[in-house]
Amino acid sequence: MNNNEINLKDKVIEGYELAEDKEILGIFGNPIKHTLSPVIHDNLSDMLGLNERYIPFQIEERLGDYVKAAYESQILGLNITVPYKEKVIPYLVDIDEDAEKIGAVNTLVRADGGYKGYNTDMEGLYRSVTEAGFEIKDNNIIMLGAGGAARAVAYMCVKYGAKKVYIVNRTLEKAEKLADDMNMIKKDNANEKTFIPIAASDYIRIPNDRYLFIQSTSIGLNADDGLPLVCDENFYDMADAAVDLIYNPEKTKFLEVMSKKKIPYINGLKMLLYQGIIAFEYWNNVKISQDMSEKIYSELKKYYSNK
Ligand code: NDP
Repeated sequence: MNNNEINLKDKVIEGYELAEDKEILGIFGNPIKHTLSPVIHDNLSDMLGLNERYIPFQIEERLGDYVKAAYESQILGLNITVPYKEKVIPYLVDIDEDAEKIGAVNTLVRADGGYKGYNTDMEGLYRSVTEAGFEIKDNNIIMLGAGGAARAVAYMCVKYGAKKVYIVNRTLEKAEKLADDMNMIKKDNANEKTFIPIAASDYIRIPNDRYLFIQSTSIGLNADDGLPLVCDENFYDMADAAVDLIYNPEKTKFLEVMSKKKIPYINGLKMLLYQGIIAFEYWNNVKISQDMSEKIYSELKKYYSNK
């Protein structure tokens, strides 16, 4: 393989540049042009008087070569987003225990000889959920979705002690695999499984009770999307609180229904905020105060009014 073909500069998206007098942070993904992460990291860097810039890199292929090139170019830290959160794992020198169990990495931190991978999506989500006053410990949860982000949601439920978790998905096999993986991590005995997979068409099997709903499908990203997986609005009466991982649009149809039913809810913007803040803390070995977090959150929210 000819390493001369690998030039990170070629992957920088329009509107950004690799300034030589700055420390570089960045994100690898495809597509990447709509990322809000520079708002988080450039503002944090400015607030702390650090000389850093956060650059989105559009990586279409040869992920491993670009990870190596980033390390060799002294890039201080990277975020990894769709479609590479799982694919990046073979190119790391080490992986955090939680990230390994989730099976996805969104943050690379410099270590000896390469990067170590972390998953700050999970802790970011947990921070946003607890800040909203929603409980995970001993709570009953309905998860909608069993894709990449849902793995972080499910692992959060294991780590923070959820009582029962129903994983509803269009493709039952994916919900089954996620439930099996998580029940295994939790070491439940065969009769007392915490995670129960449910095909979307079979939602009626979920016992009538009160649940925290966590929406982690990609349904809702498009303006004309309807409710995720279950169209019967009565199903959502079982919610006592709701989280949608989607933050754009600000209010999906799912959140509109929750709002109409006067159920407390949050969208995914705080998860985005906190996964970024935790990553920044790893990269710079600093602690970001709540006051600073709130300032960054206000910056992120401007995105809704500027759209
Ligand atoms: P994946 O592609 O890995 O998973 C998508 C999920 O949505 C699967 O469960 C899939 O079901 C389901 N789905 C997609 N289209 C349909 C459809 N037409 N009908 C029924 N089910 C459907 O995506 P991710 O898990 O990576 O991301 C999911 C969402 O989470 C995205 O909207 C993303 O923006 C958001 N997210 C937010 C973050 C934040 O910081 N706030 C961080 C990460 C993600 P099936 O298995 O049947 O295909």
